[in-house]
Amino acid sequence: MDNNNTYNFLLSDLKNLKGVGIKTSNLLKKKKIFSIFDLLWKLPRTFTDRSISTKIKDLKIGEIQTITVLPYKYNFPRIKNLPNIVNCRDETGQINCIFFNSFEGYVKKILPLEKEITISGKVSFFRNKYQITNPKYLSEDASIIKYKHNKYSLTEGISEKVYNNIIKQILKNLPNLKEWHDPKIMSKFDNVSWNNAILKLHDPENIGKYNSNFYKRLAYDEILSSFLVHSDIRKKIKKIKKKRKIFNLRYQNKILSNLDFNLTKDQYKTLNEINNDLMSNQKMFRLLQGDVGSGKTIVALLAAYNTVKAGFQVAVMAPTDILARQHYATAKKIFANLKMKILSSKSESSEKRIIKNQLSENKIDIIFGTHSIFQKKIIFKNLGLIIIDEQHKFGVNQRKKLSDKGGNNCDVLLMSATPIPRTLTMTIYGDMDLSIIKQKPNNRKEVKTYTKIESKISEVIQFVKKEIKDGNQIFWVCPLIDESNKLDHSSAIKKYDFLKKIFPNKVALLHGKTEIDKKESILNKFLSNKYKILVSTTIIEVGIDFPNANVIIIENANKFGLSQLHQLRGRVGRGKKQSSCILMFKSTLTDNAKKRLQILKKTTDGFEISEEDMKIRGFGDILGFKQSGIKIFKLADPILNNDLFEIAENQVRNMEINNIDIKKYKVLMKLYDQADVINDIV
Ligand code: ADP
Ligand code: MG
Repeated sequence: MDNNNTYNFLLSDLKNLKGVGIKTSNLLKKKKIFSIFDLLWKLPRTFTDRSISTKIKDLKIGEIQTITVLPYKYNFPRIKNLPNIVNCRDETGQINCIFFNSFEGYVKKILPLEKEITISGKVSFFRNKYQITNPKYLSEDASIIKYKHNKYSLTEGISEKVYNNIIKQILKNLPNLKEWHDPKIMSKFDNVSWNNAILKLHDPENIGKYNSNFYKRLAYDEILSSFLVHSDIRKKIKKIKKKRKIFNLRYQNKILSNLDFNLTKDQYKTLNEINNDLMSNQKMFRLLQGDVGSGKTIVALLAAYNTVKAGFQVAVMAPTDILARQHYATAKKIFANLKMKILSSKSESSEKRIIKNQLSENKIDIIFGTHSIFQKKIIFKNLGLIIIDEQHKFGVNQRKKLSDKGGNNCDVLLMSATPIPRTLTMTIYGDMDLSIIKQKPNNRKEVKTYTKIESKISEVIQFVKKEIKDGNQIFWVCPLIDESNKLDHSSAIKKYDFLKKIFPNKVALLHGKTEIDKKESILNKFLSNKYKILVSTTIIEVGIDFPNANVIIIENANKFGLSQLHQLRGRVGRGKKQSSCILMFKSTLTDNAKKRLQILKKTTDGFEISEEDMKIRGFGDILGFKQSGIKIFKLADPILNNDLFEIAENQVRNMEINNIDIKKYKVLMKLYDQADVINDIV
């Protein structure tokens, strides 16, 4: 069989397996297992050893054991509810098999008298006799029973026996795929082939052997495949020729001279990278990465300004209305004569209509908004640049769609404050060029981080009183009680009621349900220092910038991961004043929790924090990547397999430099590309 046909088996529907009907396949689908391939990555957690048989006299009560015996007598009582019993023996003793709720015919069929049979099950002792109740594993062919039975985390409704049979069937029919790796790569993994590696993966002897060659080989497959997909997308985007944007940097410099700060070196460097892309005849697809507070907004806005001056429209998209509004407000402050509008999903429909018309007639230079600015109905006359802020939850697919949407002349700039290790950046944003702002503006003082138990809230109130007296402002963050219920603001509302009694007329409340007009007026009043305390849910987590706020109090802080706490803490410490972050807890902290918080107190470097966070929680859990549906590796781990990521990076770079065709890896990519973005290469 050629590779084409063989891999189709792996991608085929589960219903092609014996013993898998609609019911079982639906149960598996609920667990996101759609194809035979998907099942391969659910690894056994442990196993039940049924491989060694015991004589009856040596049986251990309460344990699962395997015996080979001779059934010699049936006892089928006439009274309902009493079990059917089969007496069995070997040369050392006797044991009863007990069957509740069973038919005589069935018992006779599975345990014919005077025929040696192997049985495995939990042994108990009752009225001076060994017994096994409702044994599930019995066969005249001992080899069917006597091996180590894997235990997988089972899907509800599918028994261990059925599941194991499915897996065994797949492993038996595993196709022999033609090797895609070069001998040099193969030698790094002891030349273990793909199918061999899969077999080893499901061998109970290998449970937990993350460091073995077969495991690494499979991890490498995934990493390489993902990098190849990215490389392919990058190449395709680079091929798109666009109209150059002609810049006159005098405009930009005028704006710069009016700012009340100087750009940092990194801001200049990244701005130049972006400008060069915009002026080139290749479509830009770039990520601007920088920790919270590193000053990405101004860089992006300057790029937008240049683009407008070159005769194009710009769309700035933010994840929340609040952030979109803030960018809009910033832009209005620094660009006096641009035509700018904000479009919110909650804008009046008449307003929406006007904006729509103006966009299509090129009467708006920059439009701000959430994803609503990319609805189908909205047509830009001459869109030249899309800027997307804080969208780390965008997958490759969504990015690609967005970039296609703008048309060939439209460049794409993504901004992210998600400080993730390089390996993960390569994985998630590998399809993009990268600009990084490392240094923060040097007017910053480090935020002081404290922990406080909730019962000592009076001390926190004292602290807040003093801060307010000094003219400072405070964020008070209350997490959603139930993360899955985004409308559950009860804790924020309660805290608001509590605080406004202590600080009359000084407290504002903001949450996901606050009406849009009210939101704006609250934020404006907070910005102009009319309110001193802003109680909110985590909606302030991303992006918002209030330089005068220098205290953030985070309740129930153990509900958050370190990276999220770092993001929240990043809301303060933006001005010149000393800032503080108070993490509040309901009860005393466990040692583990203390250790984690130590990291947060020790450093304000987001990269360091996320790396530590990942070591503790696994990379999939941080920052909501898991929920986002972004493809996460099945086996590879950006921390543990750091070396493999480097090898893959080098390999792909070499392939790009030497123009090596990726078709050789077609099957690999087809198998692993869950994002379905490579349809057209094969
Ligand atoms: P982020 O990178 O998190 O999006 P922002 O762009 O919101 O950060 O910038 C944070 C704050 O720092 C803003 O108030 C901004 O005006 C200010 N800022 C940006 N660049 C500089 C700089 N070079 N020097 C001083 N302040 C700056
Ligand atoms: Mg920002």
